[in-house]
Amino acid sequence: MTEKDKIYRLRELINQADAIVVGTASGMSAASGKNWRYFYQDDDVYKKIAGGLREKYGDKNFFDAYYDPRMTKGEHWALVLRSMDHTRKAEAGESYEDLKELLDGKNYYFVTTNQDALLYRFFPADRITRLQGDWRYFQCKNRCHDEIYENEKILDELLPKIEEDSLPEELIPRCPHCGGEMVEWVRSREFLQGKLYKEEYDRYLDFIRSNATKRILFLELGVGMMTPMFIKEPFMNMTYQLPEANYVTINPKHAKIPKEIADKSLNIQDDIAYVLKKLLGKSTEHLDHQDKNNIFDSSKIY
Ligand SMILES: [Zn+2]
Repeated sequence: MTEKDKIYRLRELINQADAIVVGTASGMSAASGKNWRYFYQDDDVYKKIAGGLREKYGDKNFFDAYYDPRMTKGEHWALVLRSMDHTRKAEAGESYEDLKELLDGKNYYFVTTNQDALLYRFFPADRITRLQGDWRYFQCKNRCHDEIYENEKILDELLPKIEEDSLPEELIPRCPHCGGEMVEWVRSREFLQGKLYKEEYDRYLDFIRSNATKRILFLELGVGMMTPMFIKEPFMNMTYQLPEANYVTINPKHAKIPKEIADKSLNIQDDIAYVLKKLLGKSTEHLDHQDKNNIFDSSKIY
């Protein structure tokens, strides 16, 4: 099938679907522009967040810096706070706007491994399930109680107190119950999968259950191969099991389909930003339609 045929076919699948389950991962945010690629590349955003730590430790992207065991606790916190600040302030980019336009009036539901909360700027919270947490919240590192805390105010207080790329350790936020350290609410060994997490997960399953016999489209945007168990594999399995289901994956590098569901599936190996524009019949000229060999490799994270 030519690229043009694939776009046409996807348009048709979206129009005919009774329900659309959209799975988004790092590739979706990366497609939204330069504000959202610092997790895996040595760009201006990463340089701003890392400050002097970049030179000091030699890490060349946020992901490596975030997991660098050589950093002091205070330095790690400086990195985390600056990333949170960037996440809440930076522009989302056109791809999310295009996605919103594409889904307008449709019966859709999102499942995401992204922690940047960009979906919440465009879509209602009751149509989103977060599988890996959200940078806008803290939790108790000891998981001594089942609650997450909005970190907006704490962020405003602590950012000006970072000195020489380090937060003084006595300022690290503390749990109001056990006095232990707080930590960002994102997937890690300590990740809190409490009541809220389960409610959101059930809501996602309910959406699938209630549409299980209808024409349901699993639309996968930018899911890599690092954690296929969260979105990719369930989408493939459900496509195999549900009679009227279809599966579409859009990814510049990992748009592969197993033969068992080949007749119900479509793979578009291309830039998501570009495909969304094409689906809407919009111009793609202003996009930096990247060379496929140099494009962001979403297999690296999430
Ligand atoms: Zn606690």
